[in-house]
Amino acid sequence: MIPYHFNRRTKIVCTLGPATDTPEMIERLIRAGMDVARLNLSHGTLVQHAHYLKTIKRLNRKYELNVAVLMDLPGPKYRIGRITNNQVILKKGATVILTIQDIEGNAERLPINLPELPQDVRRGDIILLADGKLSLKVNQTGETDIKCRVLIGGLLETGKGLVVPGRHVSAPFITPAMKQDILFAAQQKPDFLALSFVGGAGNIEDVKILLRENGADIPIISKIEREEAVHNLDSILDASDAIMVARGDLGVEIPLEKVPLLQKDIILKCNRAGKPVITATEMLESMINTARPTRAEASDVANAIFDGTDAVMLSAETAIGKYPLGAVSMMARIALEAEKKLPYERILTERGGWIEPETDELISYNACHTAFSLKAAAIVAYTQSGSTARRVSRFRPQAPVLAISSTDKICGQLKICWGIFPIRGRKITRVSNMFETAVVQCRNLKIVKPGDLIIITGGIPIGQAGTTNMLKVELIK
Ligand code: PGA
Ligand code: MN
Repeated sequence: MIPYHFNRRTKIVCTLGPATDTPEMIERLIRAGMDVARLNLSHGTLVQHAHYLKTIKRLNRKYELNVAVLMDLPGPKYRIGRITNNQVILKKGATVILTIQDIEGNAERLPINLPELPQDVRRGDIILLADGKLSLKVNQTGETDIKCRVLIGGLLETGKGLVVPGRHVSAPFITPAMKQDILFAAQQKPDFLALSFVGGAGNIEDVKILLRENGADIPIISKIEREEAVHNLDSILDASDAIMVARGDLGVEIPLEKVPLLQKDIILKCNRAGKPVITATEMLESMINTARPTRAEASDVANAIFDGTDAVMLSAETAIGKYPLGAVSMMARIALEAEKKLPYERILTERGGWIEPETDELISYNACHTAFSLKAAAIVAYTQSGSTARRVSRFRPQAPVLAISSTDKICGQLKICWGIFPIRGRKITRVSNMFETAVVQCRNLKIVKPGDLIIITGGIPIGQAGTTNMLKVELIK
């Protein structure tokens, strides 16, 4: 058996990659605390990603787990194309030409991946490369080429990103490559599909249509990493199932000093809307190379949790780092400590003011309120569509929440929500059965002892989505 991490409420997303590409390593990541595996389609082959997905599904069956899979699509990101020997040094003051022609790059000419760039930039624009490490100034633009001067030089590698802060990107959201990726996702059916460089709600609708046409219905995580997305946050949030604060590109597209407060704003909006939010990128960056993170990194993870994030994410740390398992267990330990000090009562009171006078909202809130007042050992939420569990999670109850659902699909989707432990349960037909099953599940998972109270929520008649109308306090005998 792989132990379920019931005492940790913040979820951990790990990016898989060369450092973690064997079934053994994936299993060890799960043991260390991975809740969601992220497949980053910016790297690796589709065959390899299909393989990861199969491995996770197999481990889920073997150990009765529901580790979720998040497929992350690169989207319309401008990138430097192929470079001879995969790297080049750009010297300060040198002239370099960016071109849409299909060439192999060198210090004089560098290929880019999307054809719209020469039209999108103007003389005097600053172009940032490799997450802002290098910068260029545009001197002249042509049909296919952009002549630039190197302002800040350095090492540039194949495939690194390119950003023109403040400039609209006219490339279509669904590029031919992106369409291929979406079709792959429709076929593979991960639990989540993350979209990079979303600009507005229309982008999400377009992807949803394409998915539907191909027989798939996958929750969409919009990555907030463009200035435009920050402006359109409300409508994007409305159209999305979850959000990622993608601080890597966000910190290049907008001034870096604005990122910490934006993170807080975005998280708060997601919390209010009851939609899960992931805080991503560079959380334990130094652990790519060293066994312990910096103090600043440890604080960053804890602060994201204090901001209200549902999940924290590891990128290169687990994909290509030297200490992938150490990074996960460090992250888990930091989360556990931070959670001890979350102001649960204050959060509950504050968020009580957010609720609409609707039955399911009130039941979910009161489940948390009752659990808090009675110091209940657990909350058991029967959830058909997952919505009751998400509502409960929104109030950040201190007690673990077992979300019992009859489908793997919903269990996977709940895996990203703060404090929710999804459990596959057989379909229940009688109310008394609901209470018994809740007790049995809590006992099996060893999260209750005789004399404890648990709070149960559900809907009567049983099995209808959107009918949460019951709250029960049950004594464990
Ligand atoms: P990426 O997204 O790793 O796919 O670029 C996350 C980020 O930009 O922070
Ligand atoms: Mn990004």
